Amino acid sequence: MPELRIVSQELWDVVKSRQKILDQKIGGLGTKKRPQHLLSGLLVCGECSGGYSKVNTDRYGCSTSRNKGDSVCSNKKTIKASILEDAVLTALETHLMRDELVQVFCEEYNKNINRLRSLQQTTLKKHETELSKLSKEKTNLVQAIEDKTMKNMAQKQRRLVKKFANDNFLYEPSIKLVAGEGFEPTTFGL
Ligand SMILES: [Zn+2]
Repeated sequence: MPELRIVSQELWDVVKSRQKILDQKIGGLGTKKRPQHLLSGLLVCGECSGGYSKVNTDRYGCSTSRNKGDSVCSNKKTIKASILEDAVLTALETHLMRDELVQVFCEEYNKNINRLRSLQQTTLKKHETELSKLSKEKTNLVQAIEDKTMKNMAQKQRRLVKKFANDNFLYEPSIKLVAGEGFEPTTFGL
């Protein structure tokens, strides 16, 4: 019954296509959590700035007041969902669907998207720089470990060479000593 519609076909299609995109996006992330109602996550309590969401099957109210009590937010006002949703949709239709405002919306949207892209690029660049720095540090570290190992090995080798040299030096006179003091070739059957 087109004459009973409170929103135009055009707006209805926009809302439906947005819901579809949200469904796909959220479904793609593998989670079942998604806005349950048209205005979920879009309303804010005028008193505490907390979320204003469905507090029962047909009314919206301040979630903070409901969940955390009067001491945090005393806004106990609730509003019938159908009235609020109609009001918001009508406002969207009468104010935001005007050509010049759609134009402004698109410009602002593009600006915002470009800002986010540029931010993303900056973050990406920052991460790439960090990655390259870490990679260089890793290479240096590996090199330092290798150098240290080589140095240790060289030192060890030098110590061993020195030790052998000293040992030979000690053995030699002791052999001479044995040979010189009572080494009897006959005793040993030589
Ligand atoms: Zn509140």
